[in-house]
Amino acid sequence: MVSRKLSLLLSVLLLAVPVFAQQQSVPKPKPRVIVIGVNGMELDMIRPLLLKGQMPNLASVIQKGAYGKLRTVSAPNCPRVYSTLFTSTDPEEHGVTGFIVGGITANTNMLKEEPLWSMLSKSGITVGMANVPATFPVMPVNGYMISGMLTRGKNCEDGVLCAPKLSEVMGGDAVYPKSLQPELLKNVGDFYIDCERMPGAGDLKGHEAEFIDKWLGKVQVIRAQQTKLFDYLLTTHPTEFTFLGQSCEDRTGHWLYPITPFNVGYNASINNVRQDAFPNQYVAFDAVLGSILKHVDENTYLIIFSDHGIKPLREFEEKDPHAHMDHEKTTPVIAKHDFADGDDVPGSFFAMGPGIKHDLRLMGLGASVYDVAPTLLYLYGIEQPKQMRGRILTEIFENTNNKVAAK
Ligand SMILES: [Zn+2]
Repeated sequence: MVSRKLSLLLSVLLLAVPVFAQQQSVPKPKPRVIVIGVNGMELDMIRPLLLKGQMPNLASVIQKGAYGKLRTVSAPNCPRVYSTLFTSTDPEEHGVTGFIVGGITANTNMLKEEPLWSMLSKSGITVGMANVPATFPVMPVNGYMISGMLTRGKNCEDGVLCAPKLSEVMGGDAVYPKSLQPELLKNVGDFYIDCERMPGAGDLKGHEAEFIDKWLGKVQVIRAQQTKLFDYLLTTHPTEFTFLGQSCEDRTGHWLYPITPFNVGYNASINNVRQDAFPNQYVAFDAVLGSILKHVDENTYLIIFSDHGIKPLREFEEKDPHAHMDHEKTTPVIAKHDFADGDDVPGSFFAMGPGIKHDLRLMGLGASVYDVAPTLLYLYGIEQPKQMRGRILTEIFENTNNKVAAK
């Protein structure tokens, strides 16, 4: 009897090995993740809007998920932080240290470390990206990529903080695969990539109110085009990993931040005209979020992050106090973010999805832009490569062993 039991046990044990191996090789459904990057989303602006109920969609994400500040890098700006987020390495390591690197507009050919989209594609995850900053020229992925901020084209030759039309892009491809471009032109239209250029002082002088309203009108057009683009892509080209970008908020904040007379750069003829222009950008973003949320079911992870915040001018740190401006460097900038201490302008992070804690507030600056890529890889069960400096944000998960594919 004993020997029969033993042989049975042995056979079960022997069987268990191939069964276990078989289970491992059976492809599990891959998680669906939608990431929205909002350039320079400032929590100080958002909190009163949430209290007033003017951002109901973001409020619902907060309620269903985890949120808090996101530590950024020093002297944060869009290409510098996004490339840090893509690679979870230092700006000096990945090479995209700012808007201009060695006299050339930052571009994807400068990336010296492997970005997230490449790692996901190699692991067989379908990837879709649209309007994400610092992704021009686009790179091949297991899906599609449409570039964002820093795309060069007509009326935007240097690609810095301006908006070329899709059909007028120059100096590289804005769409991968190429076959997607005519399809987008046909079904979405000839949309602007990125957001409107900030005005120069000469454009504004004497026509402030008129120019501000015209400019905000163009921003609204661009946002409507982006909303249509995102909805089209999420409907007709769903991917397991989708990364969408927004950048009009930051662009508006730089020169229309609602400041008071004691602030640096205050000019009543500009700053008294539309004091709600900047907060209204977040109300408009909330509507974009609402349109994206239609594609989010209970099995989808939704991550919203910003690369940094934005604050009124308050430090005297640079030889050129108007570094973050239009190409003529005359925009009356009254708020910025590339302060030496990145902790002065933290970004923000919102996450919801299967196994993510509800109504969790992340205190302090424990989560950083370096942690986003390792956390996204973790959702797919992909091991964090050695060069990545961030960590998995385990504190946002109910159970780090069961609910997601832990490594
Ligand atoms: Zn900015």
